[in-house]
Amino acid sequence: MKCPRVLHVASEMAPLVKLGGLGDVVGSLPAALREVGVDARIVLPAYPGLFERLEAQNLSCAPTGKSVHVALDWRVYSAPLWETSVNNTPVYLLEQPELFADPEVYPRETTPLATLPFAFLSLAALEIPGALEWTPDIFHVHDWPGALVPAALKWHRHYRNRRGDYETVLTIHNLAHQWITTPNALNIWGFVKESFTIEGIEFYGGINALKGGILAADAITTVSPRYAWEIQTPQGGMGLDGVLASCRGKIQGILNGLDYTVWNPETDPLLPAPYSIEDLSGKTLCRKALLQACGWEENDRPLLVFVGRLVEQKGVDILLAAMEDLLSLGTRVLILGSGHPIYERVLQEESRRYQDLLHVHAGYDETLAHLLYAGGDMLLMPSLFEPCGLSQLIALRYGTVPLVRAVGGLADTIIDVDGSPDGNGFLFSDYTPHELRRVVERALSHWHDREQWKIIVRHGMEQDFSWKHSAETYKALYLRLLGN
Ligand code: ADP
Repeated sequence: MKCPRVLHVASEMAPLVKLGGLGDVVGSLPAALREVGVDARIVLPAYPGLFERLEAQNLSCAPTGKSVHVALDWRVYSAPLWETSVNNTPVYLLEQPELFADPEVYPRETTPLATLPFAFLSLAALEIPGALEWTPDIFHVHDWPGALVPAALKWHRHYRNRRGDYETVLTIHNLAHQWITTPNALNIWGFVKESFTIEGIEFYGGINALKGGILAADAITTVSPRYAWEIQTPQGGMGLDGVLASCRGKIQGILNGLDYTVWNPETDPLLPAPYSIEDLSGKTLCRKALLQACGWEENDRPLLVFVGRLVEQKGVDILLAAMEDLLSLGTRVLILGSGHPIYERVLQEESRRYQDLLHVHAGYDETLAHLLYAGGDMLLMPSLFEPCGLSQLIALRYGTVPLVRAVGGLADTIIDVDGSPDGNGFLFSDYTPHELRRVVERALSHWHDREQWKIIVRHGMEQDFSWKHSAETYKALYLRLLGN
């Protein structure tokens, strides 16, 4: 059987550049694919500071001596290709400092010029087979930043002639971001005008790059099975439900895995004390360290932790509205997140109001995140929508029981304790502060029975959400596309 050669086109890859779960996935899936016999490689922009970060992590990086050249906006942009290896996976870096100049990675605006770096990323990926000796069979692209790869193979003046050479897979990590821009983008990118139709890349008089990618890709995956279904409904489709439903035959949900080489309480170097299912005493020490980090004394209240972006998607609105209730139930709440300045400000204000009960750390802090997962008792994840969610998988591994809304990947991974003897967490459905309070109440009624709580913790810690199974599923998809 042929070993599929797959080039992942992505805008993030942990540990080099990570803004959310997408970075985690691209940082671990290709390595897992290599272990099951797929020649997976990655192409990534060399953002400002990336070479320095490689050096700081003792990762060697060398020029390939080859460059790619892409025509965009009536001129040619070139990028020397560098090669490094992360987790035994070859990573090609595009050095184009004129375009990749923003240390924040994503532009605030979606005008064709503000998003030109990502048009370049896709078209440059299509130039890699000509530049290097290695040629992929499949381009596997991630979210809107890679969406122009399949779209260009269908509608770009130059690249559409190469359509037959490659298969394309588009993974939707989050449908909320679609790259909607103005029609002059087509000229700037070099797309033929026939693409500007309702069956093409046109979207309410503008351009929607993700829509183009969805229509043009040979296969679409979402990061959980439930999300594959949700995005085909008006509630979850973000305006693309009709388009997605029309492609349902090529959509498949494949649950994200978790990188257990990073997320393992037995070996985690960021924890003050390791622990395992057999011996949870280290978790008690982590709890102590966490209380100390907050400047709190132990008072035996359960610790409810939240780690995530402070944006509407993560359910911050109902969390804020329910906060007083949750604290009055006898809990303490710890929040680590960055995101919308208004949420950050209001949460900070609330933490000053409930000094001994609510702690808020606004910002991105990897070490503190590990300590929260380890030292917490329960994880709050009241998401409005959640394509997969990694935080609940991490919490399960760290013996912190997830309390989550039954959407997307949360519904696929959490089994309610009150509905099954195998329960690993608690679910609620309606997106209201009242329902959030009720789920915390239910969890607390079990928490007070410490022996039963240990069983729930054990169920979560025993589960296997590693990449192995998902990597095999992706491999089967690749082989199917290649006709094996
Ligand atoms: P999303 O991709 O929507 O942001 P996920 O749950 O899939 O959400 O993944 C979020 C990842 O980012 C997790 O690994 C989580 O621990 C991490 N994370 C989110 N916010 C922070 C933060 N403020 N500090 C440290 N890690 C964070």
